[in-house]
Amino acid sequence: MKSILLLLIIVFVGCKTPIQPSKPKLVVGIVVDQMRMDYLTRFESQFGNAGFKRFYKEGFVAKNHHFDYTQTQTGPGHASIATGSPPAIHGIISNAWFDKVSGRNQNCVSDNRYRGVGTSSKVGQKAPTQLLASAFADENRLATQMRGKTIGVSIKDRGAILAIGHTANGAYWFSGKNEGNFVSSTFYMDALPQWAADFNTSRIIDNYLTTWDTYFPIDTYIESGPDDTPYEGVLNGKETPTFPYDLKKLAGDNGGYDVLGATPFGNSLITDFALAALNGEQLGKDDDADVLMISFSSTDYIGHKYGINAKELQDAYVRLDRDLARLFSALDNQVGKGEYAVFLTSDHGASHVSNFLIDNNIPGGYFRKSDFVRQLNEAVASRFGTLDLVRNISNNEIFLNHEGITKSKINWEQIQQFVVSFALSFHGIATAYSADNLMLQNDNNAIVQRLQRGHHPKRSGDIVFTLLPGYTSYGPTGSTHGSAYVYDTHIPLLMFGKGVRKGSTYAHTSITDIAPTISALLGVSNPTGNTGNPIVKALRKP
Ligand code: ZN
Ligand code: ZN
Ligand code: ZN
Repeated sequence: MKSILLLLIIVFVGCKTPIQPSKPKLVVGIVVDQMRMDYLTRFESQFGNAGFKRFYKEGFVAKNHHFDYTQTQTGPGHASIATGSPPAIHGIISNAWFDKVSGRNQNCVSDNRYRGVGTSSKVGQKAPTQLLASAFADENRLATQMRGKTIGVSIKDRGAILAIGHTANGAYWFSGKNEGNFVSSTFYMDALPQWAADFNTSRIIDNYLTTWDTYFPIDTYIESGPDDTPYEGVLNGKETPTFPYDLKKLAGDNGGYDVLGATPFGNSLITDFALAALNGEQLGKDDDADVLMISFSSTDYIGHKYGINAKELQDAYVRLDRDLARLFSALDNQVGKGEYAVFLTSDHGASHVSNFLIDNNIPGGYFRKSDFVRQLNEAVASRFGTLDLVRNISNNEIFLNHEGITKSKINWEQIQQFVVSFALSFHGIATAYSADNLMLQNDNNAIVQRLQRGHHPKRSGDIVFTLLPGYTSYGPTGSTHGSAYVYDTHIPLLMFGKGVRKGSTYAHTSITDIAPTISALLGVSNPTGNTGNPIVKALRKP
């Protein structure tokens, strides 16, 4: 009652001028694919003042921000950022999963009811139809009677599509090979808008088929290992994983324009395209808030190719910092300083190359999936006397053949227990639970909780397992991700701009807190599946 009175007095006293709209004209959401939180401190000395450091100077930094489920992958990550919910609710349980009903592989954004726009290749047959909850961008569309525009851009289809939701004006992703174009699908539009078509015909992309050398002299890159190590992948046509990279020469043997994906120039190209969208769609120009989601995929491709300790990775962040500065400067000029808000986060972290850990006496190793599949099938067949009782093993989940088990009159608990015991005895596996048992666990085990949040009953498998820390299911070179451990869960959340308070916190914040925080900034409803909470310390008092 007291506060209502106070509010009335404030409104009465401050009533001479009309109340200014307090929400940002544009929210720019940046997802840096495979960005660990520690990169911000590791590479800090080579960052300029206008990129990553702008968040520290003007904005809010959540230093203990985490994914809190097991599937630390691109599809689930973008879906959780957008929807404020875990895979248990938004349904994107992996980049691709075994579909229990059809028995086929389901990519998280594939939908062959739609055709590509701006491409004749299959890369255009995409839509957000597997995403089971609304995104904050959808809520902004509903709140503005569809006047607020929402656009998603990325090299990766899933990076563009899942981040921007179901009602987007457009999601655009990259078609490499010999095309080198940004494309979309008939889910969104019948033809590319003029600005996107113009971008493609400009062939700006060809400027990036140049030599990739380090931005600063290579001997100043002391935050990464030697340039030539056995932990790095080597491009076709190269003898060693070393600078310089002549991309024009290497393109032919490395997927044509796709060669740019695993270089920092993929991020520069995305910046160029995002700026074309900003201008072409006139984002942030009226009072209906717009949303632009930009997902930088090249950091992920570079991590996978060279590993997170490589000079190539350090250079990717040094250069991304300059691309961010270029983006922010354009936003200042075109939307206006203080008129927009930006957040930056990631879709997952990454592990060190397992062989690198082993060589440094840190626990780690490799999970040999093909051995596991073969040995499990043999063990189940010999114990139960029936073949084909295991339908599929993918994403650390085992799908049993329910029909075959019923037909052979095999006890359901017995076979589940057998598979769990077998998994626990296999090299590299840390925990295994039947799904039935997993959902009954209610102790405070962090890994169990992360498995539960990742489990979607309609889509997930019958038995789930996790690997030991430092273990990966991957080749001997390059880094990967997908575990429930901190190296994969700990990622940045940085914000600055309209409505954002300056400060920082070491308090735990969750990936599902982003969507409700942005919804609060925009003054719109939370997404339909949201389970997170607004990060109060990051928000200016209204
Ligand atoms: Zn990713
Ligand atoms: Zn190297
Ligand atoms: Zn990845």
